Amino acid sequence: MPHYKAPLREFDFLMADVFTLPSFWSQLPGLEEVDWPTAQEVLKQAGKWCEEVLAPLNREADEEGCQLKNGQVTTPTGFKAAYKDYAEGGWVGLGGNPQYGGMGLPKSLVAAVEEMVQGSSMAFGLAPMLTAGACVALDAHASEAIKEAYLPKLYSGEWAGVMDLTEPQAGTDLGLLRTKAVPLEDGSFAITGSKIFITWGEQDFTDNIIHLVLARLPDAPAGVKGISLFLVPKFLPDEQGGCGAKNALSCGALEKKMGIKACATCVMNFDGAKGWLIGEPHQGLACMFTMMNYERLVVGIQGLGAAHGSFTQALEYATSRLQSRSPGGIKNPAGPADPIIEHPDVRRMLLTMRAFNEAGRAFYLYVAMALDGAKYAQGDEARRFADMVALLTPIAKAFITDKAFDTTVLGQQVFGGHGYIREWGQEQYVRDARITQIYEGTNGIQAMDLLGRKILASQGQLLTPWQQEMQAFMAGVDLPEVQKQAFNEALTHLTEATAWVLERAPVDPRMVGNCAVAYLHLAGLVAYGYMWLRMSAAAQGREGDYYREKQQMAAFYCQQILPQSLALHRQILGTDQPWDLGFSGV
Ligand SMILES: Cc1cc2nc3c(=O)[nH]c(=O)nc-3n(C[C@H](O)[C@H](O)[C@H](O)COP(=O)(O)OP(=O)(O)OC[C@H]3O[C@@H](n4cnc5c(N)ncnc54)[C@H](O)[C@@H]3O)c2cc1C
Repeated sequence: MPHYKAPLREFDFLMADVFTLPSFWSQLPGLEEVDWPTAQEVLKQAGKWCEEVLAPLNREADEEGCQLKNGQVTTPTGFKAAYKDYAEGGWVGLGGNPQYGGMGLPKSLVAAVEEMVQGSSMAFGLAPMLTAGACVALDAHASEAIKEAYLPKLYSGEWAGVMDLTEPQAGTDLGLLRTKAVPLEDGSFAITGSKIFITWGEQDFTDNIIHLVLARLPDAPAGVKGISLFLVPKFLPDEQGGCGAKNALSCGALEKKMGIKACATCVMNFDGAKGWLIGEPHQGLACMFTMMNYERLVVGIQGLGAAHGSFTQALEYATSRLQSRSPGGIKNPAGPADPIIEHPDVRRMLLTMRAFNEAGRAFYLYVAMALDGAKYAQGDEARRFADMVALLTPIAKAFITDKAFDTTVLGQQVFGGHGYIREWGQEQYVRDARITQIYEGTNGIQAMDLLGRKILASQGQLLTPWQQEMQAFMAGVDLPEVQKQAFNEALTHLTEATAWVLERAPVDPRMVGNCAVAYLHLAGLVAYGYMWLRMSAAAQGREGDYYREKQQMAAFYCQQILPQSLALHRQILGTDQPWDLGFSGV
């Protein structure tokens, strides 16, 4: 049976040795008091809870799924109690604003907790993830009265938050949404419309569910400029701030889907439900993006959580499954065959999984650090971090999840036919990881965001500080020549591809969509290369297998994976006009 193993050793290495987070935190006003022993204890306790409480529910919950009866959702056995336990442990508000009951811990610590939760059960993890994201949006845009009424209950986990954007005709293009908001005399609004695909839109483990709904006011201009954001609770607050009358909203159906089957994905109907405007009229999309940008990094983390589970199970299986003899000589003379880990192709799969996972983990922590910098640093320094977040978030969402999905498929492959059978859990990792490439803006849209809104809109300026940081790092470290050369080549590919796109895109705007995914993957390969070299540098001069393996893995990444940058470079520069061929013969 699958089980979960928290990557605590990895967190130690990355946080203490690679990114020296305790010293980073100590320099940020507001985070000075976060000390390393406390952070380690948080990680240890979260890891223990995930291994012992949450992960054991994951397999059966996937089989059981959620049920909808008379508008009420029943969640899989154990989820309700686990959520209560999680909330009582204070985990939901870990990164929340202390003024309203949050714990104010840095994102670069919270992100690691999120990985463990998502890796133990992605379906479950979506509930606290969406709640934390809703809190970020409310904290940034809601009135003081709303913050006081809602944030403490959300941080404590008594209530949950969800996001309601998608409608049948409005997915990527939210400008098409039709849900209406009509002003009422008391200053609130009546919300009417239907939303689909709403994650945890209904459940049985919190007393109240707070929907953040995008809708149009009567005078709204067409398109994205006419969208406003509303807070619509399932139960209206009573005079004591508790759950009062039921609001006019209901779950009409649950989607049947490929993965995250233990999570309720709901059709939500709003029939004149009472809601309150968050932020300014017609500025809803900008407010919602506060939540979505937060969630995008966590979606990357979700993918990585599944990929980590897939890798640890595949590694264990590969050391115990006996098939054929090793081409390098018999390794298990007492047995009828050698463990499959002795076969170079199985080793290739495991090394590739490890190369992506460990770089992906380093990369999300690196982006989380930038988020902390943007939030807690001052002046120009804060702006520099915010620019970094803007540049790296689409890469973190799309590249981590693309590589995470590939990794889960490799994990399934390591299991051979047993990877296709439900019992071993590998096929669940594949099914669960797949959604991370689709929701919170598909990975194609992330690539368009990176190339269009970030690179082209800034004339490449947004990329420059990151390039300079990597160049300065390379100039200051003494790494094996083979690693340096491979990385410098990939960085040159990215620089040349950027210059080429900046030159070509104004000629024909279709060029952006043509090469956006290749460009994002090129940037992702460079990002992972940078992470591997930083890990390699931090492992230098240290005794023990752990550090030696880090350096070997850096060499593996540079020699076996990073050269893919050449193909992407050719792919981008080799397309001098949009692919306009038809599909007439199909
Ligand atoms: C399990 C699940 C959970 C979800 N949870 C939530 C939730 O909690 N709240 C919520 O509001 N939504 C949720 N969603 C919706 C999700 O965010 C959307 O499905 C996603 O954003 C894509 O929209 P769509 O499905 O309408 O696809 P479409 O927008 O129709 O896209 C179809 C294809 O066309 C491409 N495409 C579309 N426009 C462009 C363009 N301009 N340029 C290039 N390519 C383009 C897309 O990349 C995609 O490949 C969820 C979806 C699922 C499946």
